Amino acid sequence: MQIKEDFEIKNLTTYKIGGKVKRVYFPESQAEFAEILRELNEYIVLGSCSNVLFSSNGYSGNVIMTTELKQYEIRGTKVFASAGVKGPLLAQKTAEAGLSGFEFMIGFPGSIGGDVCMNAGAHGQCISDNLVQVSVFNRETKEVEYKKKSELEFSYRHSILSGGKYVLLHAEFDLKRAPQEEIQGLIERNLEFRKSIQPSLATPNAGSVFKNPENDSAGRLLDKAGVKTFDLPRVKVWDSHANFIVNKGGATSEDVLTLMVMMYNAVKKQYTIELKPEIIYIGDRTEKEEELWNILYQKKQK
Ligand SMILES: Cc1cc2nc3c(=O)[nH]c(=O)nc-3n(C[C@H](O)[C@H](O)[C@H](O)COP(=O)(O)OP(=O)(O)OC[C@H]3O[C@@H](n4cnc5c(N)ncnc54)[C@H](O)[C@@H]3O)c2cc1C
Repeated sequence: MQIKEDFEIKNLTTYKIGGKVKRVYFPESQAEFAEILRELNEYIVLGSCSNVLFSSNGYSGNVIMTTELKQYEIRGTKVFASAGVKGPLLAQKTAEAGLSGFEFMIGFPGSIGGDVCMNAGAHGQCISDNLVQVSVFNRETKEVEYKKKSELEFSYRHSILSGGKYVLLHAEFDLKRAPQEEIQGLIERNLEFRKSIQPSLATPNAGSVFKNPENDSAGRLLDKAGVKTFDLPRVKVWDSHANFIVNKGGATSEDVLTLMVMMYNAVKKQYTIELKPEIIYIGDRTEKEEELWNILYQKKQK
């Protein structure tokens, strides 16, 4: 397993933001993954880093990356995937096998671990729809446990894994058979839709910044509140999607948090709705960043 010290994490994140991490582990097998999880006490597990804002101050602790845990198998309608398998790859491979259910995963770079943790979803589908069971590492007991879908407490962008007690090792899904042209057609429509409103990863971003409030859309509220004109020296709101922040080059985590607070305040002022961050902020914070994050986050999450 590769272990990197004082590792500049920013190039692994889709925001291209993040300072030095004291130690980063890249397990290459389930055995190595389990071994390092048992050995360490304090750590953050990350997949594609496509839903995180990593502090530019870095992190004086351990990060375990699942990027090398790429094993998957398609057997009949069943799909078995390790934590680090990328959603778009599984979307393509299951489409080729005539299996429907993962078409939504085509347009964003999440790993299966991150997707299950966040209950990732789009275009009316989500990761929990076809999940059967998972194996997880319990950080308190340091044991591997098997959990059925009903035990994972899925809700919008939330699962039992969001609480930080469990690490996803492996997941099993059961998809539905469908004509290949139908699946491929849906994949292409999903991609086209994304291209029309979202920045590509060549323009660093981390997807939606805020969660949708119940029965409404954060993007719609932000747009109506006029945030598309918000443009700071290194970050700005994306022109065709008011819930996306893009890094214009050289941005820091403080830049993103500053813009998030501006967006949050704009919606709060106009609608008295307090948006909740979808993005997860991690790493060592400065006092200023802690202050900004507290405005956005405190006592609002589950
Ligand atoms: C262009 C773009 C478009 C996007 N569109 C969507 C969308 O349509 N729908 C959507 O839901 N999301 C979207 N996202 C956000 C993001 O891709 C998803 O939230 C994805 O599920 C995150 O997966 P990840 O592997 O990148 O997780 P990371 O960002 O690496 O981590 C996110 C969280 O998951 C935890 N985690 C990661 N791996 C594990 C594991 N093995 N066990 C336990 N916890 C783990 C981390 O600790 C962290 O708390 C988009 C992002 C981008 C950049």
